[in-house]
Amino acid sequence: MFDKVLIANRGEIALRILRACRDLGIKTVAVYSKADESAKHVRLADQAICIGEGPAKESYLKIPNLLAAAEISGAQAIHPGYGFLSENEAFAQMVAEHDIQFIGPDAEHIRIMGDKIIAKKTVKELGIPVVPGSEGALVEVEDAVKMAEKIGYPVLIKAAAGGGGKGMQVARNTTQLREVFPIARQEAEANFGVPDVFMEKYLERPRHIEIQVLADHHGNVVHLGERDCSIQRRHQKVWEEAPSPAVTMAQREELGEIVTKACRGMGYKGAGTFEFLYEDGKFYFIEMNTRIQVEHPVTELISGIDLVAEQIRVAQGHKLSFSQKDITLKGHAIECRINAEDPETFAPSPGKVNVYHAPGGPGVRVDSALYAGYSIPPYYDSMVAKLIVHGNDRDHCLRRLRRALSEFVIGDIKTTLPLHRELSMDPDMVKGEYSIHWLEKWIKAKKSSS
Ligand code: ADP
Repeated sequence: MFDKVLIANRGEIALRILRACRDLGIKTVAVYSKADESAKHVRLADQAICIGEGPAKESYLKIPNLLAAAEISGAQAIHPGYGFLSENEAFAQMVAEHDIQFIGPDAEHIRIMGDKIIAKKTVKELGIPVVPGSEGALVEVEDAVKMAEKIGYPVLIKAAAGGGGKGMQVARNTTQLREVFPIARQEAEANFGVPDVFMEKYLERPRHIEIQVLADHHGNVVHLGERDCSIQRRHQKVWEEAPSPAVTMAQREELGEIVTKACRGMGYKGAGTFEFLYEDGKFYFIEMNTRIQVEHPVTELISGIDLVAEQIRVAQGHKLSFSQKDITLKGHAIECRINAEDPETFAPSPGKVNVYHAPGGPGVRVDSALYAGYSIPPYYDSMVAKLIVHGNDRDHCLRRLRRALSEFVIGDIKTTLPLHRELSMDPDMVKGEYSIHWLEKWIKAKKSSS
């Protein structure tokens, strides 16, 4: 049993983990950079250790500093949150070698899923349908041209080690492909340190549907239904909901069955997410995330299951306390990611939060590390709050969302709250009729009309 967990993260997710630990009666150790001295997770943790300078490379990404903090504090486990080192195989491995429990899957599974080429090959062998494309890395442009002719244009070039929606290039014909292929390789190398790229058929109007799984160390695996994360800008999620307005009960059960079977086949442990694109009634795997995700609360609100607490429980060796038949998904939940950005230009807008008023009332949850008087440092991700709302059905949820958005005040920095207010009223959004390209088109149309 753990009596102390080190949280290797910051911001809202550090707080989220801290709260799960408190609920389980576990003490917490916060780590922080010099830019985060006044951060909420530092103030609320039982113990806090400074691990370096503001830039993440000099603190939250410094493995020796994190391991030293765990040793000094006597933490028996490390929760990596999302981002930073959460999908770093070497970190998971080193944590295990120091006899500290990594709250996540085995390093081996992080390695497999961290390389999208290996991930696709692995899940395909386990019976999961994947997006048509190259089976391995493409090195020569001529091989890419041949592959594109085989699968048909448009095609997408993706980095094998990619993440965060970075480094993807679309090509609609051979001329474009010859142009973007070397750029994609250079970007992959620059962003992820590995030049390997692969090709996928570029889907023109899919939805992004992902399935949450939870597995213990005893071979028990459950799924908690899907999340629809199609509302994206630059391949990054902006708004997520569960259940998806487009997925039927039969599809949910079928997909859930396929992914839980694959997890059993792999011996996967902990929380994980299988991401799919969905078009014309078919699902195509794109990647698996081997960590807790930003959008996990929508699943928590419809399932009543605390995913972070379950991650900690299974890492302690406990069996899942429920089976698939015990899980009932109730109502509808929507999450809005609120970024400290200009809502028109999306330019980052860090700075001092002079006014902070979070909404409340039935069905409303706010996951944020903001408080009045806090200064948002410029070094990290611009997401500063998540508003998650639950309702009996989608319409009820949307009404509550509008109510909550109208109450939310974050001043005087610029945030994307006005964008979410507009989205929550938009007729397509109200109908739930959108694909992964919907938001980009909506933003473009808005710009050209103003
Ligand atoms: P990352 O790891 O960088 O987030 P993903 O493979 O998860 O990359 O893809 C992120 C997003 O990019 C998807 O949600 C989707 O919007 C878009 N995308 C990925 N693959 C395709 C594809 N084959 N066709 C069209 N869009 C895609």
